[in-house]
Amino acid sequence: MTFDKVIMVDWSGGNDRGLRPVKDAIWACIATAGVAEDPIYLRNRQLAEDWLADTLATLQSAGHRVLVGFDLCFAYPSGFATHLIGSEDTLALWDWFEARVQDSPKANNRFDLAGDINARFPGTGPFWFNGLARDIAHLPRKGNDRTADHGLAEKRAADIAIPGSFSPWQLAGAGAVGGQVIMGLPVLSRLRKRFGPSLSVWPFQAPDAQIVLAETYFSLLPDLIANDPNPIKDAAQVSLYARAFSALPATDLEILFDIEGTSEGWVLGAGQSQMLRNALTTNPPPLKNDCFAMPQGAHWTPVDDAHQHLRDKLTCVTGTETVQVKDAANRFLAQNAQAIRSHPPAPNAAVDGYGFTGPAPAGITRLKLVDGRSAAGAPYDGTVPLGHAIRILTGANLPEDVDTVVLQEDVNTTDTEISFHGPLKRGANARDAGEDMQAGETILQKGRKITPADLGMLSAAGVGTVTAHKPLRVGILSTGDELREPGDTTTDGQIYDANRPMLSALVASWGYKVIDLGRAPDNRDTLRTILDDATTNCDVILSSGGASAGDEDHMSALLEGTGSFALWRIAMKPGRPLALGLWRDTPVFGLPGNPVAAMVCALVFAAPSLGVMAGGAWQNPTRYQLPAAFSKSKKEGRREYLRARVEDGQVIIFPSEGSGRVSGLSWATGLVELDDPAQKIAPGDLVTYIPFNSFA
Ligand code: AMP
Ligand code: MG
Repeated sequence: MTFDKVIMVDWSGGNDRGLRPVKDAIWACIATAGVAEDPIYLRNRQLAEDWLADTLATLQSAGHRVLVGFDLCFAYPSGFATHLIGSEDTLALWDWFEARVQDSPKANNRFDLAGDINARFPGTGPFWFNGLARDIAHLPRKGNDRTADHGLAEKRAADIAIPGSFSPWQLAGAGAVGGQVIMGLPVLSRLRKRFGPSLSVWPFQAPDAQIVLAETYFSLLPDLIANDPNPIKDAAQVSLYARAFSALPATDLEILFDIEGTSEGWVLGAGQSQMLRNALTTNPPPLKNDCFAMPQGAHWTPVDDAHQHLRDKLTCVTGTETVQVKDAANRFLAQNAQAIRSHPPAPNAAVDGYGFTGPAPAGITRLKLVDGRSAAGAPYDGTVPLGHAIRILTGANLPEDVDTVVLQEDVNTTDTEISFHGPLKRGANARDAGEDMQAGETILQKGRKITPADLGMLSAAGVGTVTAHKPLRVGILSTGDELREPGDTTTDGQIYDANRPMLSALVASWGYKVIDLGRAPDNRDTLRTILDDATTNCDVILSSGGASAGDEDHMSALLEGTGSFALWRIAMKPGRPLALGLWRDTPVFGLPGNPVAAMVCALVFAAPSLGVMAGGAWQNPTRYQLPAAFSKSKKEGRREYLRARVEDGQVIIFPSEGSGRVSGLSWATGLVELDDPAQKIAPGDLVTYIPFNSFA
């Protein structure tokens, strides 16, 4: 069982909540494979119903299979429907409500209808808690005003299974759900009619239609909600549950839906909070087996085509988790981050000086000093009358009516007054509340790689945790019988492994977690074992060497057997073929063995690819146009990367282009990129220079 789209809806029984997003309104969120879109604020039921109908129609025609979860009881305790409509057919009961509920953004008849229903039952009837000022016939004010002789249970089996849940009979009071149930069933009834047989309602119908509606409960993971950075709890809830349900493996979904349906229904996920919790931290689906398939032909693939292919086919492979802001540097945000509090939270002084009610005219201004001062963390809570000033320090809140600060260096003071030369504009040296960030404002977008400055901004806005992708785990492997560890004794036929320390440090500098996979000999069985082990703790493997199609190119040979292998012959220098494939779902980037080519291919292809797999967007490096201090002519039809550095504003290149010269990599601070067409470069011509640290 799978759903490729999950929508979670937090329902509400109240009237229109206004334009500004607030809690206790209707909130909805769409998620795909564990990644949620921004929660949607729906200020009344009419808008929510339209949004649901439109969204479902769009998803349906695009061929998606959709699960819609509502935080809304789909049914009442058993026996209710039989007494009211003569059968336990819950879906017919929905239609009964649909015919009787009146609803508009400003008013609805839920309390009156509940009274009417009660009148049809023995005793006081099941519904209770009139939340209106006026009395309603047959609707008790409080729980203890009623009798149980209506013969119905107070809660359904599903409600009893969930600690802390409320009875659908209770219409008002903190936490009550009864009102929203009456106001929700007619909407559900109309959605059923609109979508006909392509919609089914679980557990009253089999969950095999294209659109499946189910009842959920949003308080199964209270600790995760409490940690969510979204200040509006309802928005945090729909996002969290949409992510969880959309990330559930098919086998888990099967278990959740495998419930014997009764007329009382069931809450999807009740008693299975651990399963939902796991879904939030497990990884998204793996890459598709054909993601590296490139049309093979005699032609060399241009770098731009190779980029476009990777960009189209690669997806994020890391799950998400809640991270403390202090630990979030280099992580990719999985959810937008909102300011919890405005920054600054109150108007305050930008300098040390004296605060007063501005402006001050040209000429000398004299002001009496009030007794007291305002310092950062110790605001002054008295008043500062007109004609007075107060001693104020940088960052201190401005007392009421104070809006202007004169710099202490510009002031003459006595014990009782100050004087200074005007003019000074109103608002001078003062900061407005929220001038930097407003509470609730989105301050960072999902997909952002969090920088040190971002940590400062998030902290200033009161954000303690963010939802981020787990760090990408990158395995680094060198291959070749000739390789030895620096420091080992060697024979002439052996060389030191230069790539592994170099690529490990490079990947670490990009902010990912490096897994050292060591060196593999030119032996297929050993390499196979190393790859098998690597798939247990790596999200992606960067290997170097053995990637061509020769006798000792065991990486290519092994990947070939997986059916996912492609040898990309890319029109670039330096570079040999790039071997790409999936080993048990784990992507392998087989880089050339030659250190210069390995480094350049890692920068040009691995850097942007890893960014996408880690949860970011495809990122092109920042390129600078600078005058060349060299001459060079190049052939048509391939891209060339030269080891380069910038001196006195000009680009110089390493004297040798020999790709065995690893010393030139160390000398360089970046690469010159020469485009595919033939060209002759003379000193002074502008060339493209990319610093190494711009690649990721
Ligand atoms: P291969 O792609 O395995 O044919 O290797 C191409 C060239 O790069 C050969 O000269 C290798 O010896 C050399 N090479 C391969 N791996 C490394 C490494 N980890 N460090 C230094 N040189 C390497
Ligand atoms: Mg080799």
